[in-house]
Amino acid sequence: MSSDNKTEKKIVIALDGFSSCGKSTFAKSIAARLGYIFIDTGAMYRAVTLYALQNGAINDGEVDESRVIALLDEVEISFRFNPERGASDIYINGHYAEDEIRTIEVSNCVSSVSSIREVREKLVAMQQQMGRCRGVVMDGRDIGTVVFPDAELKIFMTADKRVRAERRYAELKAKGDDVTLEEILENVISRDEADMTRAISPLRRAEDAIELDNSSMSVDEQMAWFMERYEAVINK
Ligand code: C5P
Repeated sequence: MSSDNKTEKKIVIALDGFSSCGKSTFAKSIAARLGYIFIDTGAMYRAVTLYALQNGAINDGEVDESRVIALLDEVEISFRFNPERGASDIYINGHYAEDEIRTIEVSNCVSSVSSIREVREKLVAMQQQMGRCRGVVMDGRDIGTVVFPDAELKIFMTADKRVRAERRYAELKAKGDDVTLEEILENVISRDEADMTRAISPLRRAEDAIELDNSSMSVDEQMAWFMERYEAVINK
């Protein structure tokens, strides 16, 4: 293959793994480096959860599945590129929702909402449509197993629980959220458990995924690790 062909070859990069592993940050840097589109699928599940919270389908943390399903037809999710962030912001029915989907309230309910079959069917279909021309880095839980089982490069990210909770805590604190480290740790653990044990598309490492434990890796080290694997796929 000529080097021109190599630079033109666009692939799908599937980035799955546990909560708060830094998947989105990593995916964003990869997309910037390769000129790819970054798609944060967790944001889509969070958007449906936020909409459900705002429209009475979740009360005192209890998710009313049939009400969530009934809302699905009226919730329209879209992304708009934000050059300041170097990533796309999410909009729900045309309203900016990027900040609101990250609150602890949404984090505490999102795993229940994401376990609903109809929710997954709608969002997976959207994700497949968004990646149909390839040239995407998609981060989530089921990208390498369900959304793009034919992805050319699959990475499964993991890191120590406490390291993950500390990273998420620092992020939320920087935004001014009133949260405790223990609360975040509890959320990280319970979300992983719920995501791994749900009946539909549970979080699991695809057989052909390469594992990356980034507990003690810098951003630069992760990028160097990634570029080696990427080059190997592109030059195959
Ligand atoms: O990636 P993030 O932590 O924002 O994802 C929020 C939640 O959305 C996850 O805990 C999981 O329940 C759900 N999710 C999913 N499938 C995906 C992405 C996220 O079920 N592909």
